[in-house]
Amino acid sequence: FIHIRGLSKKYGAYTALQGIDLDIAEGEVVCVIGPSGSGKSTLIRCINLLEEFEPGSTLVVDGTPVARGAALQKVRAEVGMVFQSFNLFPHLTVLRNVMLAPMRVRGLPPGQAERRARDLLARVGIAEQAEKYPGQLSGGQQQRVAIARALAMEPRVMLFDEPTSALDPEMVGEVLDVMRALAGSGVTMVVVTHEMGFARQVADRVIFMDGGRIVEIGTPAQIFDTPREARTRNFLGAVL
Ligand code: ATP
Ligand code: MG
Repeated sequence: FIHIRGLSKKYGAYTALQGIDLDIAEGEVVCVIGPSGSGKSTLIRCINLLEEFEPGSTLVVDGTPVARGAALQKVRAEVGMVFQSFNLFPHLTVLRNVMLAPMRVRGLPPGQAERRARDLLARVGIAEQAEKYPGQLSGGQQQRVAIARALAMEPRVMLFDEPTSALDPEMVGEVLDVMRALAGSGVTMVVVTHEMGFARQVADRVIFMDGGRIVEIGTPAQIFDTPREARTRNFLGAVL
């Protein structure tokens, strides 16, 4: 469903990704772990072309090559993203934040957009916050709005870049619960995370990255219990 071959990315002279090969099946949940600077964010940002990558790389999402031009609209419409910083529109209510893209991009009539938004807010457990502004919500609530907003476009792929890293510890669980529920819904998920418990419990496969490469990829049991590579063992030894 997501097909990646020889994906490379440079920032000037610095190589952030060095020939990534990866296939992700539809509905699969893949967690990406690894040290700071290993290229985790760069990898997922390439999937919806938030970062340009080197010529000669192959990246295809649901049959559409990820590239500048007409096809980019299709890819962006199919791929939702949630960031560490929630990136909500501060001057719009929660409800309006979730309604905006379906109305602007999809041309959904306001009534329909509102119904969809209210359903999604209920699904992430914050139906009663619809009329508030983002600044009036806790971090965990804001991140759940961000998830609802991404889901409002009915994406087939959801990318998460450390969605709980900016949260106070007591709010991490409520966001992970929403993501766990989403993982059972059939949407393909690629999740960069430091939450090893979540990765072990929810991921179909875990990717360990270091130095712009995939060092090791396997089931959670393989990666966490019987890692093959010394670098994976060292990393897990430091974080677990
Ligand atoms: P972290 O866990 O700290 O978020 P990461 O694995 O997500 O790290 P990336 O953000 O993908 O790492 O960065 C990979 C490498 O590319 C790092 O060495 C980083 O300094 C470099 N890099 C990232 N973005 C840029 C940029 N816009 N310009 C130059 N170098 C960059
Ligand atoms: Mg990152």
